Amino acid sequence: MTRVAPTVPAVEHIIAGQRRALAKAITLIESTRPAHFPLAQTLLEQLLPHSGKSIRIGISGIPGVGKSTFIEAFGLLLTSLGKKVAVLAVDPSSPVAGGSILGDKTRMEELSRDPNAFIRPSPSKGTLGGVANKTRETMVLCEAAGFDVIIVETVGVGQSEFEVASMVDFFLVLMLPNAGDELQGIKRGIMELADALVINKADGESVNLARLTCAHYQNAMNLLVHAGFWKPRVMACSALEQHGVSEVWQMIDEYRQSGQENGQFARKRARQNSQWLTKLLHDMLEQKLKENAAVKVQMPALEQKVIASEITPYAAAKTLIELVFASSE
Ligand code: GDP
Repeated sequence: MTRVAPTVPAVEHIIAGQRRALAKAITLIESTRPAHFPLAQTLLEQLLPHSGKSIRIGISGIPGVGKSTFIEAFGLLLTSLGKKVAVLAVDPSSPVAGGSILGDKTRMEELSRDPNAFIRPSPSKGTLGGVANKTRETMVLCEAAGFDVIIVETVGVGQSEFEVASMVDFFLVLMLPNAGDELQGIKRGIMELADALVINKADGESVNLARLTCAHYQNAMNLLVHAGFWKPRVMACSALEQHGVSEVWQMIDEYRQSGQENGQFARKRARQNSQWLTKLLHDMLEQKLKENAAVKVQMPALEQKVIASEITPYAAAKTLIELVFASSE
């Protein structure tokens, strides 16, 4: 779906927290039309000094684990505490299949009616990296619009978790109560990314199983070496019955407070900004390579020569790179 051509909203309307202005600004950021890029970047530059004051929380988990139920309960808790909450999504399914895992069903109905909450589905166009970059920029807009808590939701498949973990202050992974064999299958990568594992659906007949699962994950976590000041935690909750949800917020608030006191919070953001720059450079160079007419012409023949061992991959790559730079001079 391509959204209608956006107009540029006024910076002061966004800073004043006007939702329509914010929604328009996000549409501009998400636009794939080249003519909109400079407009979007100018807007971002103007808003950047007003950003950075929120806590950014990533929430991941497999479909069905209870992400939307949890975010609804968590978001409503936060707005009841007087906070403004934005919920953004990075949906890895959209570029691949054209469909959407996160966006299709009616989600977070009560939260979406809350005047202090703002819910924005995943941009529907672009590669995952592109979608994730838009989400980073959207976070800047939401912060400038005065949102205190920004939740970035993603599905626990593949690369999207890494993308989201690299743009948030705190990365939370929701899990199901199923200790034992399934535990063997848990991706080690996720354990290393997570600042907290939260076992959801700890209610009804699953209470004991959830307790057992917590203990198993805690043991597994203890075996990992974690860099940084924060030792990841494991806890249980029921998003449906709203048990343990406020404890999750208390934990994140504690993380924020101690991270701000010891300077690690700011250092993590600085590191993420610099990684974002590196990533953008790579993406932009790759894009230039893909778009270059001379590269398109020469690539197949050079590839064949590499396959046939007539030239080295290095020589082929060097020729192609030189074509890009020659055409941009
Ligand atoms: P998502 O796909 O991760 O967003 O998961 P949903 O929030 O849509 O939840 C999937 C199903 O699990 C729904 O039927 C929810 O009602 C149910 N569910 C979510 N959280 C809980 C919970 O804490 N306890 C129980 N028993 N069911 C839950």
